[in-house]
Amino acid sequence: MKIAVAGTGYVGLVTGVCLAENGHSVTCVDIDDDKVALMKAGISPIYEPGLEEIMIKNMKRLNFTTDYKRAYKDADVIFIGVGTPEKKDGSANLRFVYGVAEQIAKSIENDCVVVVKSTVPIGTNDKIEDMIRENLAHDVNVYVASNPEFLAQGTAVRDTLYASRIVIGVEEEIAGNVLKEVYRNFDAPIVVTNRKSAEMIKYASNDFLALKISFINEIGNLCEIIGANIEDVALGMGYDGRIGNRFLNAGIGYGGSCFPKDTKALHWLANFHDYELKTVKAAIDVNENQKLKLIKKSRKYFDSFKGLNVAVLGLTFKPGTDDLREAPTLVNIPIMLEDGANVRAWDPVGIENFKKIHPIGIDYCYSIEETLKDADICFIFTEWDEVKELDLSKYRELMRNPVVLDGRNCYDLVSAKKANITYDSIGREAINSLEASLV
Ligand code: NAD
Repeated sequence: MKIAVAGTGYVGLVTGVCLAENGHSVTCVDIDDDKVALMKAGISPIYEPGLEEIMIKNMKRLNFTTDYKRAYKDADVIFIGVGTPEKKDGSANLRFVYGVAEQIAKSIENDCVVVVKSTVPIGTNDKIEDMIRENLAHDVNVYVASNPEFLAQGTAVRDTLYASRIVIGVEEEIAGNVLKEVYRNFDAPIVVTNRKSAEMIKYASNDFLALKISFINEIGNLCEIIGANIEDVALGMGYDGRIGNRFLNAGIGYGGSCFPKDTKALHWLANFHDYELKTVKAAIDVNENQKLKLIKKSRKYFDSFKGLNVAVLGLTFKPGTDDLREAPTLVNIPIMLEDGANVRAWDPVGIENFKKIHPIGIDYCYSIEETLKDADICFIFTEWDEVKELDLSKYRELMRNPVVLDGRNCYDLVSAKKANITYDSIGREAINSLEASLV
């Protein structure tokens, strides 16, 4: 079976590599020459644990090219894994997906199944199929199947090789059978449904998770006000199997390439059909506020950032990825800079990408210790292991004022108390905050 994958981002490349790991020959196509050159040399253009190793192991079954015509011409299956970013109005921008559909229509010379892995609004697969069939350069049969992706960045390889489920949305049995053959070596439950339901499963899953995060964040905000502890609350809730203990960590909100855009896109789509998705709207609104929670907290300790040395630990939207899309740092750091802060920032893998956005004005550090040196306040935006494992005494030892605002609840309160630092986190009592306000 000849397989091509359009797009070599977090989804496309991981899909291609994991299909190769399961015995398929795969040609990965991208429009970005630099990315393709890197991949040909066995280098992954994105940071994703384990990806490069499996990529190198399977090089004999993997091809990388910008020549889409050759890749699609005689492919049996073509996966579409290009981006579907957010438009200004919140709807999904489908220009990359439609661009690939056009290229496929012009290129294919064999019957083939086009598999849409990109997250697309309900009804898009129908449009893609019409578009391809209407523009075919050769007289061939083409079927479009929806096969949404559920991987999470940071665990993408594991999530793909040991998928929680494989969702196949088809209108003709023939396309479903081809996809079952593609996934024959994967040990995961398969849900076969129609295309619209498959598209909806993806949005409903992501929006539900976003809602769960926003819910626990709101409860955390209330815990702070009334003196309860969100971690104990979440622990107590999580034992209920109907609730579960995952995605119950209060913090400074969700970011990344999926939850923000997928909540807005579904809300937009519902509005378009004259229906208000109130729960999803609430998740979006809560998250917008939550992103600025640490900045608001910082006002308890300093009126302004002017002249302050600010240490930032973590730049990416979550650990395990170099992706900055919708990372809280993108809105918080500019506020600090505008207010006159001297910002020092550390991240184990995100600095190069952040430098592309802020090439000047930030002092990038390659160790946590260097970042904390002489700082007046420290913001933790990403719960990297290096941060969680840091000896808390370092804050008092290295900072001018050991005021630590933790947006990810990396430390327990007892340790923070013992370390004699001012420690303000999410949904929990602030430690030594009185002492700090006198600084
Ligand atoms: P990405 O932005 O990381 O990668 C997209 C890639 O497509 C880029 O390398 C780009 O150069 C390439 N591209 C654009 N046009 C092309 C064309 N005509 N031919 C070939 N390549 C082309 O995107 P991503 O994060 O992998 O997301 C892809 C899709 O998967 C989105 O719809 C997203 O919502 C969905 N998704 C993402 C994740 C995630 O965690 N990132 C998880 C599940 C689903």
